[in-house]
Amino acid sequence: MSRPKKMLPILGQTPEPEQAAPDPEADGCADDCCSGVAAEASASTPATRQKNPEVPEGGPVGGGFEKTVVRVEGMDCASCAATVERRVAALPGVRRATVNFAAGRLDAEHDVGLPTGEIEGAVRAAGYGVAKTGEAEGPPFWRTPRAISVLASGLLFAVGLALSLGFLGAPELARVGVFLAAIVVGGLPIFRAAVVGLRARHLDMNVLMSAAVVGAAAIGQWAEAASVVVLFAAGNALQVYAIDRTRGAVRALARLAPDEVLVERGGSEVVVPAEEVAVGETVIIRPGERLAVDGEVVEGSSAVDEAPVTGESVPVEKGVGDAVYSGSLNGQGGMLVRATKRAGDSTLQRISRLVEEAQAKKAPAEQFVDRFSRIYTPVVVAAAVALAVVPPLFGAGFGEWFYRALALLIIACPCALVISTPVTVVSGIGAASRRGILIKGGVALEAAGRLRALAFDKTGTLTEGRPVVSRVVTLGAHPEAEALRLAAALERRSEHPLAHAILTAADGSRLPAVTGFRSVAGRGAEGEIGEARYLIGSRRLFEERGVPLAPAEAALSEVEQAGETPVILGGEEGVLAVFGLADAVRPEAKATLESLRSAGVDDLVMLTGDAEAPARRIADGLGISYRARLLPEQKVEAVRDLVAKHGSAGMVGDGINDAPALAASSVGFAMGAAGTDVALETADVALMQDDLTRLAEAVRLARASERIIRQNVLVSIAIKGVFVLLAPFGLVALWLAVLADMGTSIAVTLNGLRLFRRVNT
Ligand code: ADP
Ligand code: MG
Repeated sequence: MSRPKKMLPILGQTPEPEQAAPDPEADGCADDCCSGVAAEASASTPATRQKNPEVPEGGPVGGGFEKTVVRVEGMDCASCAATVERRVAALPGVRRATVNFAAGRLDAEHDVGLPTGEIEGAVRAAGYGVAKTGEAEGPPFWRTPRAISVLASGLLFAVGLALSLGFLGAPELARVGVFLAAIVVGGLPIFRAAVVGLRARHLDMNVLMSAAVVGAAAIGQWAEAASVVVLFAAGNALQVYAIDRTRGAVRALARLAPDEVLVERGGSEVVVPAEEVAVGETVIIRPGERLAVDGEVVEGSSAVDEAPVTGESVPVEKGVGDAVYSGSLNGQGGMLVRATKRAGDSTLQRISRLVEEAQAKKAPAEQFVDRFSRIYTPVVVAAAVALAVVPPLFGAGFGEWFYRALALLIIACPCALVISTPVTVVSGIGAASRRGILIKGGVALEAAGRLRALAFDKTGTLTEGRPVVSRVVTLGAHPEAEALRLAAALERRSEHPLAHAILTAADGSRLPAVTGFRSVAGRGAEGEIGEARYLIGSRRLFEERGVPLAPAEAALSEVEQAGETPVILGGEEGVLAVFGLADAVRPEAKATLESLRSAGVDDLVMLTGDAEAPARRIADGLGISYRARLLPEQKVEAVRDLVAKHGSAGMVGDGINDAPALAASSVGFAMGAAGTDVALETADVALMQDDLTRLAEAVRLARASERIIRQNVLVSIAIKGVFVLLAPFGLVALWLAVLADMGTSIAVTLNGLRLFRRVNT
């Protein structure tokens, strides 16, 4: 992506479906806890309101709102994301702010005209950075200030420990001094962030850790205090390091497209920046070069590796008329390509944008975690306070109980729990995108991971979608060629794959003109040729129009017995011909269905508008159940039935004909989405390639993600639970509490990132 932030006007105010439930974090802030911050924030930012230069012309309408996306840098703890969220949400005019730690991104919804600078200012005020346009990758991890300070702090801590062992016979003061230095060097960013958290009245990780450190130092436990700092800082740094590589991966993919291209202009070839190439211009693609724009081949041919878009690195042969995508790597041939999109709208850019958006959306499990944390942390902090105060009142030793309370403070941070879900979502969606599978957010990921039932469209999904006319039975006076000619004339303006087949079969003959053409959804088409009216389509179409089918029954059963799809041509005098169309089952269909079954999706149904006999033949061959002769609205009903039966059900289709059924399903999968923007934008899961095996891969990946999310949440809660129970009995040392916490955080992070690694190797 070339721009770090983008602004989308939202016309009307329909919230995105996943965000239909109000975000409790933002809401909570609006009504109580952050009112103090709101005042403070508005005082610290310029009161002047300027028109935002980035608002697209004609975009926002009065009363609408806009979205601003900011890449937040240096966020090193999951619960600090909530601090940034509160800080930004408290800005006047901001309706909602969502920060995703794992994705490193802030999405703000705000009144039209709120300057981006104010939002960025709030992020900076919260103690984090804002990434700028086209910013190069930062220095390697071990040379970042953070890594250096962690290292220095660790070394100081080690020296302190050595002194404590009494090695050099060092005085007490030197020992304390070294520990104090370790605390300051490693803890400064933590203390600074804690101040921000406190101001936002958010008991985030930094606040709790700082309190524990200060507390431990106050009772003279210098080594303990330093150990908390070192372990906490090191744990965070490691976690950020692990996540960072995943965060950047998708962006890196989008940067594959070159910045400059060779185009034909005014008879000569010139090199221009890719973003200046207009739609319709001819781009010259040289051997071994990456494509900079989406387009259509107008001359030449070559094998092209489309992996960045489709996830498939086996080169695809491209010739005149084929679509090619920005980011693909050209093989040995040269080609001329007519640009069909601006560089910024390319499929690759779109995918990368959609993936980032998807990664930033909160998954249902995350919302649960948020709710849990909002209760858990205050309760444990209250328990810690009680532990420090109550036993000493009854004569117990203050130091001992205060120490136990500090341990409880550290345990009060739900760090591991908070990171457990988003890191898995980011990793799962990122991994999917590398295989040409675009999953539109945690909601879709989790839903796909829990699927038990899946409905399939037949034509183009289970079958190739390229039917051919394999039989023509004429009934009237018309010879075969004439019947085909009439049929083709009627089908000329129809979009249906069957229409294509008939046109292809009639290839070469001159087609008569058709007037009053009308396509009848899910049934066929009609029109006039000369003076006569003609109908073409399914049995249902003729039944509904009252055209007697009795004379055609023999022909129809011949076609249906052969397992072919019947298409009937009729005129005023009755049925003229019956065509038998055969559409081959996709070779990978059977294996895909088996793979889905073994993954636990066992209710598989084929939905089709086709006749009974051909539907049965295909379904039986694939071993799945089917429902035939369905009108488009009945397909929607069938999907709803399936959802009602299983609680959730998916639907697989091409995303164009099946949009309503896809929308009715819990998770809509669109195949071959790379070529069709609608499918890309509307499906819950878009499979770039027109390849069914990706479907099974998507479902398996989603299952794995779902499993990992569950493991992560359970493990984090279990470990917290154990430590909460042990701490009051003095069984948890401070360093152990931090170690457990950081250890769990790192473990769940690595567990989540496993998904991403799996495809890398
Ligand atoms: P599918 O479930 O196979 O995608 P559709 O709902 O698109 O089927 O169409 C259902 C049936 O309607 C087809 O099997 C065919 O008999 C008929 N039909 C629809 N459109 C046309 C057309 N343009 N020409 C001929 N027949 C059509
Ligand atoms: Mg269809």
